[in-house]
Amino acid sequence: MADRPTESQASALINANCVDFARRRIEPCTLFIERGVIVKKMDGRNCRIRSIPTVDLGGQYVIPGFIDGHTHLVPEGIGMQRLDLGRCRSLDKCFQKITANIGKSEFVFASSWDETTWRRGRVTELDRTALDRLSTTTPIIMRRVCGHCAVVNTAALRRIPDHWKIVDRKRGYLYENVALNLNEIFVPGEDMLVKAVRLATTKALRLGITSVHEISQPRYLRVLQKERNRLNVRFSVYLTEKHHEHAVQTGLRSGFGDDWIRFAGTKVFIDGSLGARTAALARPYAGSRMRGNILMPMSRLRRIVRSAEDCGVQLMIHSIGDRATEATLQVLKDNIARQNQLRHRLEHLELLSREAIDDLRRFNIIASMQPNFVRRWQHQGSLYEKVIGERYLGMNCFRSILESGVRVVFGSDCMPLGPLYGIEGAVLHPSSCGRLDTATAFRLYTEAGAYATFDETRKGKLQAGYLADLVVLDKNPLEEKNLTGLKINAVMVGGEFGYVGGTFAARKK
Ligand SMILES: [Zn+2]
Repeated sequence: MADRPTESQASALINANCVDFARRRIEPCTLFIERGVIVKKMDGRNCRIRSIPTVDLGGQYVIPGFIDGHTHLVPEGIGMQRLDLGRCRSLDKCFQKITANIGKSEFVFASSWDETTWRRGRVTELDRTALDRLSTTTPIIMRRVCGHCAVVNTAALRRIPDHWKIVDRKRGYLYENVALNLNEIFVPGEDMLVKAVRLATTKALRLGITSVHEISQPRYLRVLQKERNRLNVRFSVYLTEKHHEHAVQTGLRSGFGDDWIRFAGTKVFIDGSLGARTAALARPYAGSRMRGNILMPMSRLRRIVRSAEDCGVQLMIHSIGDRATEATLQVLKDNIARQNQLRHRLEHLELLSREAIDDLRRFNIIASMQPNFVRRWQHQGSLYEKVIGERYLGMNCFRSILESGVRVVFGSDCMPLGPLYGIEGAVLHPSSCGRLDTATAFRLYTEAGAYATFDETRKGKLQAGYLADLVVLDKNPLEEKNLTGLKINAVMVGGEFGYVGGTFAARKK
């Protein structure tokens, strides 16, 4: 494919402070960029350059662009155009917002309610009957922040086909695939999708994200391709499992595409989420006999793994509970090449046994984890303690997992988007088994993600030969205590500043 028109010719960033997370130090540097790639990095600030345009960064700090290892950016962008209940601090407030939107469109699709942030109203009061009181004619959908659970009124429930599982029709609760795939029933129009790509990529870029590992589906992938020339975030796309056979039959292998949009592999779900109490645990949830569910017969997983191995497709497997991970690892161990050449990866892995950590290391399987979940739900009295009791302290042990020799990659799952917020989650981890130093946390959000998509020689470092994807920060991240207070002053993707903040102090020459 031809070069995008935005990828300009030679330029240089001078007077920069390059942050080297591996060596934990700052080096004054000059970066020479040509056709979207760093062609040369020189030590020292004031290299004299006459012949090419330069941008004087005035000593600001430069880090590699963030790679978010697990996103749903298109759905995020759809959500940005729909009703957001994420800031509602009571059930009543959610209801008020929904009521105010009835009549504005064919249905009301409200996202991101989170009962753990409510000061009034209990989740037990939220059901189909309660939503019917708001409207009996306009379909109302209220999806939980995790995406794995939703509540609907009767008008919406009528549109859910009988064969869709898991649905509690009496209470109007939808779980797992039904909740995750509601966009297939309450379909967003083409305009909404195009706008979704623009809104979500703009949001990601402002947060310093230059590449994402995006879970997607064919219709969204088509829109991404249509928007290709406007994209300012790079997409490695994992198609959900039901498209696996088609993708394989079409001849797609992981890596097909280019630096902007690429087919990366297949996404598979083994269990649910802790918040919805559907993650498959070895021991029951607190105050309950339930242990969650494994969503797929292992015989089916085995078939997918074998076909992925045969056809060169990387798998991204969602597995949160320890029981789900144990079952998944057993299938992987029996069916993948010893050194895991395809770099199959497991997502979330919030509860891991010692044996599972050993298996991850021995088979070189990537652990793709979300430090923002820690920040949000893994502190004393928060959601995780409520759902699994004391076990919450042993969750998301980033440090000990890394020290065991497992490759860990950070991502946000868009809950919420924001690498600095996630990095802070790892640095302020409630347990020492999970607490990371700042430099390591940044590496997991930059170079680690590059390995997961075979981009370790192209992304994640400020070096010659690497893509010119970088973030300009106001302060030295290695010394800053308040990480979420760091200002992202500018973000460059492919040699172009895709985002420039109000406080970006650079002089063009
Ligand atoms: Zn996800």
